[in-house]
Amino acid sequence: MNESVTVIAIDGPSASGKSTVSRSVAKRLGFVHVDTGAMYRAVTWKAIEGGVNVEDNIAVIGMLHTVKISFAVVEGTVRMLIDGVWPGDAVREPRVADKVSIVAAIPEVREILVHHQRSLTSLGNLVVEGRDIGSVVFPHTPYKFYLDADPAVRAQRRQKDFAAANIQTSTDAVAKNLQTRDRIDSQRATAPLQIALGATVIDTGHFNIDECTKIVVDHIRQQSTRRGATTLS
Ligand code: C5P
Repeated sequence: MNESVTVIAIDGPSASGKSTVSRSVAKRLGFVHVDTGAMYRAVTWKAIEGGVNVEDNIAVIGMLHTVKISFAVVEGTVRMLIDGVWPGDAVREPRVADKVSIVAAIPEVREILVHHQRSLTSLGNLVVEGRDIGSVVFPHTPYKFYLDADPAVRAQRRQKDFAAANIQTSTDAVAKNLQTRDRIDSQRATAPLQIALGATVIDTGHFNIDECTKIVVDHIRQQSTRRGATTLS
């Protein structure tokens, strides 16, 4: 891991606004954006496409050992490619969303992906979003945020995303999926979703994207000044 880079950790549950705010903060600061949820989704997509039973840990781990994982940065965001293929929006489909938390709870899967996530510091300063970024992946970063919003607000947001992508689903099904994933993600034994020690908590239901971005960036600048760091401009 490159110790000289700055990492901003943004954790929180699904549809908490993490992706939008992370992308916006990264753009504002000129950092590379990393969506670790998309990595767990890509592994799940690959398993489903290959007919691997995602409830069979051994089979999923076996598959992960046979594929080649690589990365590309496109428009400031890291893309994870599996065997040279970036699955794109396919990772957002309900069939992937329904299974991703099961795959993400497998300790060996996490070990492999966390290793890759840490290696991305070779790209420079990062804004990394996920569930365990401030607690496990980059626990030493002084810049930790936890974004959250009321479950009903989150379900409405996710339903809007699906509608925009022309994916048929009901608000009830979306709310149920978020609830199930929240439960699995928070209760799993390895790297559960939690508010990392020292993280700043933001309820994104109370602010728009620009306001959230400003809160995060202002906070980072204040902390950075206090610490005498010069990496942020
Ligand atoms: O953020 P997103 O909803 O795309 O994440 C999809 C799933 O990936 C989460 O529900 C969680 O199970 C898993 N995940 C994780 N650790 C991360 C990021 C995502 O376990 N750092």
